[in-house]
Amino acid sequence: MTDAYGFETLAIHAGQEPDPLTGAVVPPIVQASTYKQDGVGGLRGGYEYSRSANPTRTALEECLAALEGGRRALAFASGLAAEDTLLRTVLSPGDHVIVPNDAYGGTYRLFAKVWSRWGVEYDPVDLRDLDAVRAAVRPGSTKLVWIETPSNPLLSIADIAAISSIAHDSAALVLVDNTFASPYLQQPLALGADVVVHSTTKYLGGHSDVVGGALVVSDTGLGERLAFSENAAGAVPGPFDSWLVLRGAKTLAVRMDRHCSNAERVVEFLQSSPAVAEVLYPGLPGHVGHEIAQKQMRAYGGMVSFRLKGGEEAALRVCERAKVFTLGESLGGVESLIEHPGRMTHASAAGSPLEVPADLVRLSVGIESVDDLVADLDQALRG
Ligand SMILES: *Cc1c(COP(=O)(O)O)cnc(C)c1O
Repeated sequence: MTDAYGFETLAIHAGQEPDPLTGAVVPPIVQASTYKQDGVGGLRGGYEYSRSANPTRTALEECLAALEGGRRALAFASGLAAEDTLLRTVLSPGDHVIVPNDAYGGTYRLFAKVWSRWGVEYDPVDLRDLDAVRAAVRPGSTKLVWIETPSNPLLSIADIAAISSIAHDSAALVLVDNTFASPYLQQPLALGADVVVHSTTKYLGGHSDVVGGALVVSDTGLGERLAFSENAAGAVPGPFDSWLVLRGAKTLAVRMDRHCSNAERVVEFLQSSPAVAEVLYPGLPGHVGHEIAQKQMRAYGGMVSFRLKGGEEAALRVCERAKVFTLGESLGGVESLIEHPGRMTHASAAGSPLEVPADLVRLSVGIESVDDLVADLDQALRG
């Protein structure tokens, strides 16, 4: 499929030609580990063993590459598997990485507890401060600048184009974790980033029924190196998981539109609640990163965080009293979720520079009837 098609068309058709054998309009789940060769080395369609490649996974990868405006995508068994494979590919012992000072807890743990043992150094930096980013670059040894925007769970915004230009001045690669925005709201490769990572578990899958990850790049040479690492290290998704993410991607645009409009209503309500001290949402004109978000995003997404005047106890109470919002980790599914980052998703950041405030509640605003969502938060906050 060519880039001339619109996002929604690519989501439904890129990598998803009707099956040549049967005409099935949906790519089949090719539940096979190995493939018959027509004579030694005579591969049909290039498939030999499903760790190296599988047709259902290929369909997903071609779709994801098209959605991010990249040339190559690789699908993984989880978002963290995608991250880990990227790091194996571009870093060596002694290299230095700049990470956001409010990175996803699992990303921070990967640097702090896993990669640091292999001699990779990292500095958590406030990416909103471009001078701080510039100062943190160690010429010659900083090989990667890791961006997460909007960030999890504080929803801060980093300027992808500006940070990419700082990093590229020192020949460092730029990665953007685009999980919160999804390719529908933000396309980092077009803004100058080198690599996009996704937890496809979230908005791309969209139905809270699969764990997966992906890397997308514009540079085909880097794409080849990533494909080598994926096969060499082996963190691949199975055919059914690949199919579920591909099925989710087809409706990404319409789901995101509803996630965004529901989130706006929820934000409006939270701002009017006397129990709420602060609402964190990049769509708010008073949000520090609002202008940058306006520049680099189509809309502001379905994630909303807020702080309670009543502190941690009040935050925990809201989480426990919500009914339509399900108390649980993860995000990006059709169902609304509520959680306490300090005790749940970001518990692994406790005591680190990435520790999150105890009075913080994070919402993944789903696509249910918005009146029900507002009424649910209203009763939970009154408790
Ligand atoms: C969930 C998440 C990840 C990790 O992905 P998994 O699929 O859980 O391994 C990475 N980054 C962000 C922003 C996430 O929300």
